[in-house]
Amino acid sequence: MSGIAHEYMVEYIRSLIPREDGILKELEEYAKDNRVPIVQKEVANFLKLMVTMKKPKRILELGTAIAYSSILMSLSSKEVGEITTIERDIEMIKLAKENIKKYGFEDNIEILEGDCLEVLEELDDKYDMIFMDAGKGHYNHFLPHCLRLLNQDGIIVADNVLFRGMVASDELVKRRKITIVKRMRTYLELVSSDEKLITSVIPMGDGIAVTTRRNNHE
Ligand code: SAH
Ligand code: MG
Repeated sequence: MSGIAHEYMVEYIRSLIPREDGILKELEEYAKDNRVPIVQKEVANFLKLMVTMKKPKRILELGTAIAYSSILMSLSSKEVGEITTIERDIEMIKLAKENIKKYGFEDNIEILEGDCLEVLEELDDKYDMIFMDAGKGHYNHFLPHCLRLLNQDGIIVADNVLFRGMVASDELVKRRKITIVKRMRTYLELVSSDEKLITSVIPMGDGIAVTTRRNNHE
C-alpha cells in the first residue's frame, strides 16, 4: 500500500497508460530488477504531459539515478533542448553516464555531480522546468534556489511530497522519518502559502506538487 491512493484506483489508472517500448522499457526493466527508485508509471506519464504542455527548452532535475526520467523528458518534446541533472551517488552517476552514451543523449543531458544543495548554490542559469526528485528531507532548503533559477513562467514539479502518506497523517509517520516528514510539510506550506506562487498537490504516485508563479499581478 502506498498510503496515498486506493490500490484499485492506481491499478486502473496504470492500465490506461500505454506500455513503453524501446529505451524506456529497457530502463524500466533494469530499474525493476535492481530496485532503482525511478518515477512510478503514472508519474512518468504525468511528466510527459507536463513537458508536452510546457515545451520547456531547459530543464533542471534533482536526482538522476539511472537517467530514466531525464531520458523520458528529453523524448517527450522536440522543444526540449538541454536537461541538467544532479546526482551524488557514484554508482548511479556511472550507470546514468553509460545510459546517456548508449542511447545517444550526450548532447541533451548533462550530469552535475554532487549534493543537490551544493550544486544548486553554484548554478545561475535559468530553467523553464525543474523536476525535484532527490533529497526528500531538503526540498524546503532547495526551494529558494529553485525559485531563483526558475524562469518567470517556469514550473516546479516535486515528486514524493506525500511520502507514503506520512506527510498527510501523523498516524502513518515512522519515527525515523519524522524529520523528513516535517520538512516536507514545510515545503508544501511554503509553496502553498506564498502569495506569489500557486501550487497544486496531487495524490498520485508518492505525491506530486506542481508550482508556478501567479501572473495576476506584477
Ligand atoms: N529521477 C529519477 C529517480 C531519482 S531517485 C528517475 O525517476 O528516473 C533519487 C536519486 O537522488 C538517487 O539516485 C539518489 O542517489 C539521489 N540523491 C538523493 N539525495 C541527493 C542529494 N542530496 N543530492 C544529490 N543526489 C541525491
Ligand atoms: Mg521520486
